[in-house]
Amino acid sequence: MSEGGTGMDASAPVETASDVAAAEIAHHGWRPERFMVIVAHPDDADFGPAATAARWIDSGSSGWLVCCTSGDAGGEDPEADPLALAVVREDEQRRAAEIVGYEGVTFLHQPDGALANELPLREQLVREIRTFRPDAVLTHDPEMVFWSDGGVNHIDHRTAGMAAVDAVYPAARNPMAFPWLARSGLAAHRVRRLYLFWTERPNCWIDVSASLGRKIDALRAHVSQIHEPEKLEERIREWGTEDGRKMGVAAAEALRLVVIDQDPEHEGPQTGE
Ligand SMILES: [Zn+2]
Repeated sequence: MSEGGTGMDASAPVETASDVAAAEIAHHGWRPERFMVIVAHPDDADFGPAATAARWIDSGSSGWLVCCTSGDAGGEDPEADPLALAVVREDEQRRAAEIVGYEGVTFLHQPDGALANELPLREQLVREIRTFRPDAVLTHDPEMVFWSDGGVNHIDHRTAGMAAVDAVYPAARNPMAFPWLARSGLAAHRVRRLYLFWTERPNCWIDVSASLGRKIDALRAHVSQIHEPEKLEERIREWGTEDGRKMGVAAAEALRLVVIDQDPEHEGPQTGE
């Protein structure tokens, strides 16, 4: 295939830190065999890196989606039943996840608007990571607080992003973190890369010209949240085109890549597992 190879492919080119920095204008070709997307709310993953996820899945990757909350505060009516809304939003997210092609979705049922990066959430995320065993985790950039063109990034987005980072490193790879997990068969697992979305510090761009339509279809599944689907499609296409221009393709998604471990075949005595 035309991709630069997967993390499992021994012929994959060595990617150094300077290659990553220089990748600003080239398609980012590394692809995980397995990846997990960790988000705060239903619809975040679809507004976020859905086209990248769809592209990777089309190329043979397996993806899993984790929603920390079920979006039970995602409405305007203070009299509304938050549990009923959660059921609707989980259904919408499951439908969207099928469109993107994830193998499944886990809802952690944390409270919308009150997500806390504390040990119970970290344990839940470590459990998910050690169960699915992804090479890469995609999550919110937890360092985004104020958008440069105005506005504040929702605290749940920042919290989910930081909780995912903290679960990936060091907890998921440390068998002595939440030791009852390893004792019950969930062995430590090394996630080698983080891809942070909704970032203003992108360092890799992924050509999603062929999968942007799936992102739009997935977004349309969030019926309770999307009131003007045509305007939404226009906006998503605009964003995709803007990022695509930087690499000379029809559409791209921009992500902030953090390499934690080089792929096992390039490592010295230390091996990934
Ligand atoms: Zn959100």
